[in-house]
Amino acid sequence: MEKVRTRFAPSPTGYLHIGGLRTALYGFLFAKKHGGDFILRIEDTDTARYVEGSVDIIYDTLKDSGIIYDEGPDIGGNFGPYIQSERKNIYLEYAKKLIELGGAYYCFCAPERIETLKDKEGNLRYDKHCLKLSKEEIEENLKKGVPYVIRQNVPEKGTGSYHDLVYGDISVDYKDIEDGILIKSDGMPTYNFANVIDDHLMGITHVIRGTEYLSSTPKYNLMYDAFGWERPTYIHLPPIMKDASHKLSKRNGDASYEDFVNKGYVKESIINYIALLGWSPKTTQEKMSLSELIEKFSLEGINKSPAIFDETKMKWLSGEYIKEMSDSEFVEKADRFLKESKVYGKYDLNKIAALLKTRIEIFSEIPDKINFLEEFGEFDIALFTHKKMKTDTDIAKAVLPRAREKFAKLDSFNFDTIHSAVMELVQEMELKNGQVFWTIRVAISGKESTPGGVMEIAELLGKEETLRRIDFSINLLNK
Ligand code: GLU
Repeated sequence: MEKVRTRFAPSPTGYLHIGGLRTALYGFLFAKKHGGDFILRIEDTDTARYVEGSVDIIYDTLKDSGIIYDEGPDIGGNFGPYIQSERKNIYLEYAKKLIELGGAYYCFCAPERIETLKDKEGNLRYDKHCLKLSKEEIEENLKKGVPYVIRQNVPEKGTGSYHDLVYGDISVDYKDIEDGILIKSDGMPTYNFANVIDDHLMGITHVIRGTEYLSSTPKYNLMYDAFGWERPTYIHLPPIMKDASHKLSKRNGDASYEDFVNKGYVKESIINYIALLGWSPKTTQEKMSLSELIEKFSLEGINKSPAIFDETKMKWLSGEYIKEMSDSEFVEKADRFLKESKVYGKYDLNKIAALLKTRIEIFSEIPDKINFLEEFGEFDIALFTHKKMKTDTDIAKAVLPRAREKFAKLDSFNFDTIHSAVMELVQEMELKNGQVFWTIRVAISGKESTPGGVMEIAELLGKEETLRRIDFSINLLNK
């Protein structure tokens, strides 16, 4: 097989949506699996849709998520420039060649004439009027500087067929394809032209993109054929939906990669989850690192049917990644969210990490889960009553003063010593473990649920603060 070359060709329209990132990821995975190159090309010829700053978002997102490109605008390569607006002259040169080959023609029709050709819905079917111009008329118009566009000359009869690796054999009747514009009046190419020229000149072997291009591919093939170029292999990807009838789209307020990172998802889990949106691995294993994805990825596993984006599942996956982190890794990756909590700088973060690791799915849950360590005050004493634990406020009133007494006597105050003290209390008072554990935990946290039990929390708080909180709770009960 010749060296695989794939590309990601986003338009800088303001954000990198999840669908775009998946396209990039699949191109990357496929290229890397086969020892090939993955190229980034910026398609900015639609100046009206250009949004300042979006190219940087593309660079940053790809780098941050580990989708490393081998060639691209900011790193160069042998097939540049990699920004279409910098390739303007190349397109014009090839458009003129295509005219000579009969695959395109100059169109000098004024906008007013074009208007008259539109149907009630505003759709245009160009009538090939300018195709009939003589060589002399064309020359004359060009000399006079009459504004023009260059249109594709699509046959009026016949069908264009090709094989897509995901969707199989695709045929489109040429009568359903219009003579679309290849070069606009400002000299800029349209996507419909530029994608063909660039994919060929950049040696792209496999074109991986969304299904929206499935039915326009026959018109690109007409151009490949007219130039005598080999067509690339096509892989169109199923849409990503947020439910049965709505596509996932940033425009409708759906989150992007960046948004998910800001929400506290583990980065690797986002990429891992996106990989599964439209591709099924051969095994049932779902948690996969980028290198495992490269190893396992195969085009045969890409599904035809739309993928439904399930944030709950991505959250679960994020939690799986968190569980497997070492404490120090957790502290490093969760840094931003730990800083947002009230415990930052006051507690041993490795201990906090150990406490939280198995209990959260995304980092943004952190502040809420541990702020009680710094925030303690009036709480509802009904929390002492728990049916299943068989505890209530009377038991609390009996247990807490004795727990205080035991804790006060401890010279070293750590998990083990606290545990022994609590177990002694259980025996001496002839209570069930749960009755004592629940009661003390509520007394020192003021919370129904906390990450970690009595021992972990008391150790973190330290002896002094633990005693202070028990006193506070005893007062609260006696009010
Ligand atoms: N610029 C196109 C887009 O953003 C690229 C499509 C393609 O990959 O060919 O949709």
